[in-house]
Amino acid sequence: MKTFIRNAWVLTMDEQMTEYHPGYLLIENDKIAEIGPDEGPSLHLKDLLHSADQVIDAEDGILIPGFINTHTHVGMIPFRSLGDDMKDRLRKLLFPLEADISEDLVRASAQYAMAEMLLAGITTFSDMYYFEDAIADEADAMGVRALLGETVIGQETPDGDGHAYYGLKMAPAFIKKWQGHPLIQPMLAPHAPNTNSKESLQAVTKMALEYDVPVMIHVSEMDYEMAEFQDKYGQTPIEYLADINFFDAKIIATHCIHAKNKDFDILHKHGVGVAHCIVANTKAAKGVAPIKDMLTANVPVGLGTDGPSSGNRLDLFTQMRTFAYAKKTYNQDRSIFPAKTIVNLATRGGANVLGLSDKVGQLIIGYQADITLIERKSLNMHPIFDPYSALVYSAEASNVEAVWVAGQQLVAHKQLTRFSEAAISQRLQAQMAPFNAKVAEILRQE
Ligand SMILES: [Zn+2]
Repeated sequence: MKTFIRNAWVLTMDEQMTEYHPGYLLIENDKIAEIGPDEGPSLHLKDLLHSADQVIDAEDGILIPGFINTHTHVGMIPFRSLGDDMKDRLRKLLFPLEADISEDLVRASAQYAMAEMLLAGITTFSDMYYFEDAIADEADAMGVRALLGETVIGQETPDGDGHAYYGLKMAPAFIKKWQGHPLIQPMLAPHAPNTNSKESLQAVTKMALEYDVPVMIHVSEMDYEMAEFQDKYGQTPIEYLADINFFDAKIIATHCIHAKNKDFDILHKHGVGVAHCIVANTKAAKGVAPIKDMLTANVPVGLGTDGPSSGNRLDLFTQMRTFAYAKKTYNQDRSIFPAKTIVNLATRGGANVLGLSDKVGQLIIGYQADITLIERKSLNMHPIFDPYSALVYSAEASNVEAVWVAGQQLVAHKQLTRFSEAAISQRLQAQMAPFNAKVAEILRQE
């Protein structure tokens, strides 16, 4: 199958930040087979026009590598807009509600979240939640690329049969089942250093090395987490993790809001990537992670939405824009983090963080055809002097015209090609009644 996309403003996001305007791209099966300037009536392009199975006129839209969402919780759509302004929401609402969330609800939520992400041009996401094997089924059906890890936490979990650390118990079977899948990469996902024991964290690293899978963890996110590790060990959580050899595995560190200078060297030394979720962090008033310093220390950084209860919107346009606003204000410098750098974090940067930089995150011949086309016919997209600036400051999810994952077109003309949005929404609503009843009960007791 050959798909010939022409007349596009191609931003390859490769090392040289090569652009073609107008440019073309040829998808052959799951890979990018050709890319270059669309020079009009050349013999080669004429030949492609005839030989391709499908020809798409991008109408001068912006063609980029699919966005990479380095951190989310796709099972949490039911929590969206619940207690957004409430102090200590995690303990008051989220943990009690999660205690008996059902597999059917998580499945419906996961499909809904993946649909929302695809429609926003996200082609890869990295997830930590419960019922992760069911989430993998849903991801497989949607055709999206995903890193999936069951939460490892020192408390009972909804699918854990009363066991703490169920995520460790189920991991070997889960990993064996999904390892080798073309799009799904199983991983381990310890919740955080302060919700795990030293033994469980060390068991995670041991298992990750044994099965050669990555590990995602929330770290240096909470002020109380920082205080706890300072009191107990006289260390930052990152120093503590280094001390117990946690970083021997391939680690994706989420948040790192309160990471200090001494932590950056540790992250760099161990090749730890940071999933930066600026919207969730600032909404919860947790702070702004020192990304400038991390990049200076050569720590890979990507952007993440966090879960829909934390970041609300599952798109990276909102992340890119908030990132720009927060960093520029925080540093009192409008020239810091130019738009090009921010688009890079949302694409190539994310691929680096997730260990996928040899297959996605750039439009390069031989890479996976994970591609997003953003139209520029809508009123908010005109004029465009700088396409990166348009993506960061003007564009939003509703401008995403088409999306491919591994060469499969999953979004066309702003709609899912394989599923009905209405059916996805109805499926979720049908599963929400018991959840809604429990929300009402908790809020009554407040
Ligand atoms: Zn999270």
